[in-house]
Amino acid sequence: MYCARKLYLQYVLKLTEPPKEALVKGSIRHKAHENINLVEEELVKGIGKDVTLEDLKGRFHKRYREILLDAIKEHKEELKQFNIVPQELFKAVWPLILSESEARASIVHEFMEKNDVFGEELWEKLTPKIESELKISSEKLGLKGIIDQIEVYEGGFVPIELKTGKAPNEGVWPGHKIQLVAYALLMEDKFNTEIKEGFVHYLDTKQKRHIPINPFMRVEVKELIEKVNNLLKSDKIPDFEKNQNKCFNCGLKEDCYNEKKLNGILDKKKASLS
Ligand code: SF4
Repeated sequence: MYCARKLYLQYVLKLTEPPKEALVKGSIRHKAHENINLVEEELVKGIGKDVTLEDLKGRFHKRYREILLDAIKEHKEELKQFNIVPQELFKAVWPLILSESEARASIVHEFMEKNDVFGEELWEKLTPKIESELKISSEKLGLKGIIDQIEVYEGGFVPIELKTGKAPNEGVWPGHKIQLVAYALLMEDKFNTEIKEGFVHYLDTKQKRHIPINPFMRVEVKELIEKVNNLLKSDKIPDFEKNQNKCFNCGLKEDCYNEKKLNGILDKKKASLS
């Protein structure tokens, strides 16, 4: 979806993009979200009867804060590489994590009040539960991926993709839609159930955009898989991307315009196969 040439450079010629500042920031936020979901069980099971909403918000707030600090600490070296001050990054990301902690605490508290349950029973009955970073693959589809979040309901599953960066004015970016539908196909294959919808959660703007999954989208993704497989089997390097804006931000730009280097790698690859 981004650039056929880039895909070929990465997956056939095995060229790798140098790390980017935005990627480092993105992986810290991903890590924080992953760990936030992992501690939910412990947090919820620890909720006793009569706990107030304010108290609950305080508990979530404290735990989420620790998690974000740990994620930043874990990426200390990469941050240094880009001269990012950890405290500044914390200040930038914390308001978003804080509002998520408040939202989650409110959902849990409302469920608790409505159903009059707490502790272990609250955890057992709580819906939706959230699963994070689910690694999933299917030989039949020729796909694999890691799903950021899955909301688990009694009657089914809803995939959620977390994204940093700008959201479109409405809906989601085309690549994000394809990614989510691909996850839906993977989940249908794994759980043997129909996935009817999903969401892309744009973290920076706190917008959760809904995607109803329809049969046309499934066909679109399957056609795309076939196209990609044909591209990867080809012995011709695809043409340059027409949208120059993409090239401007591309980490493989230098290698991409070095035709001599690319042809050299390709010739070696062909020779090793013959
Ligand atoms: S520089 Fe442009 S054409 Fe080359 S790989 Fe990157 S996006 Fe594609």
